[in-house]
Amino acid sequence: MSLDQVSPGRPAAIADALSERFAREYGVPSLGVFRAPGRVNLIGEHLDYNDGLCLPIALPHATYAALAARDDDEVRVTSLQQDQPWSGQLEALGPGDVDGWAAYVAGVVWALRQLGWDLPGLDIMVDSRVPVGSGLSSSAALECSVALGLCAVAGTDADDEVRRALVTACMRAETEVAGAPTGGMDQTVSLFAQPQHALLLDCRDGSTRQVPWDPSAAELELLVVDTRSSHTLSDGGYESRRRDCESAADSLGVASLREVDDADAALSALPDERVRRRARHVFSEMGRVRESVDQIGDADFAGLGRTFCASHASMRDDFEISTPELDAVVDTAVEHGALGARMTGGGFGGSAIALVPRAQGEAVRAAIGAEFDRRGWPSPGFLSAEPSAGANRTA
Ligand code: ADP
Ligand code: MG
Repeated sequence: MSLDQVSPGRPAAIADALSERFAREYGVPSLGVFRAPGRVNLIGEHLDYNDGLCLPIALPHATYAALAARDDDEVRVTSLQQDQPWSGQLEALGPGDVDGWAAYVAGVVWALRQLGWDLPGLDIMVDSRVPVGSGLSSSAALECSVALGLCAVAGTDADDEVRRALVTACMRAETEVAGAPTGGMDQTVSLFAQPQHALLLDCRDGSTRQVPWDPSAAELELLVVDTRSSHTLSDGGYESRRRDCESAADSLGVASLREVDDADAALSALPDERVRRRARHVFSEMGRVRESVDQIGDADFAGLGRTFCASHASMRDDFEISTPELDAVVDTAVEHGALGARMTGGGFGGSAIALVPRAQGEAVRAAIGAEFDRRGWPSPGFLSAEPSAGANRTA
């Protein structure tokens, strides 16, 4: 059994190789290379569209975009993760115009033009170290790396106000052009994260607070386990959870579940058993985000581990978005010394996180690998989630 540690690579080396390949394939130098990270959410799942709180960190694993302006209206996009390049005209990058992966790129150009940005035709090449489709937000990393590059093309300084506009543009690209609804957490953390911090995001008003998060100082590691079982948001699970939450809010006469003050009274007022369990996850998870922020502030990592486990149980039993693979990661990690573990991201596959004392890191990896082997599942991928910087220019 081999344990697959997924490396983030060295940003400068990745950027150099990408610039060189860009110049070779497009025959012009790139304007620069722009990096945007994937993310993992510590806690606060399926709360973004309920106007709630979440607490993501940026991964060291990122997507890198090299780009250059053209003097015509053509947009050409190449990804080193895809066989086929894509090209189209500046006027036809919006909803319905672009299929497949290129929609995430073309959609950002379209959305910024909708905001009034004057953008020319473009050559774009991307490379990524974020596992794709693993719930670690390769989609936002792709959008945000391109968006930051477009700031340079437009000669715009990427200050906080501009980054807020980029979040909106990337969300529109994903929702309207790629056709995958997104609540905005992924894009916000990819653009605003700071190293050694988690980002407390209030999805009701988009406000953020940096929360110091440095598990390595306490001899702990945040281990991410990619189960390599597909999460497909398009198969209806995500949409139906969203609909259940909306229906709960409607029955309670509130704009969103965030507006509910008395959770117990609200739950007993919901007639439908399934909708009630969905709402219970939202209310209890909201409390756990606040609890986690306090536990992190107090360096109470044992308490935080218990909160992670309670969050997992809520997603497994009340929200019903876990899978046998995710449950196996969580149970095995905890049995072998993790302080706590939970699935993370939208669910139905994807990744889980475990808070592991450094000394137990190898044993936990080996036990999870052995369990997957025993059950005949593909080997999982392991990532060390050192809290990293948000989008920046690397070359
Ligand atoms: P996640 O964001 O969790 O990785 P999504 O389903 O939201 O999963 O996004 C994955 C999709 O994003 C891919 O199917 C592909 O269309 C696009 N994508 C992400 N990264 C890349 C990349 N480096 N090159 C091309 N397409 C990418
Ligand atoms: Mg995504």
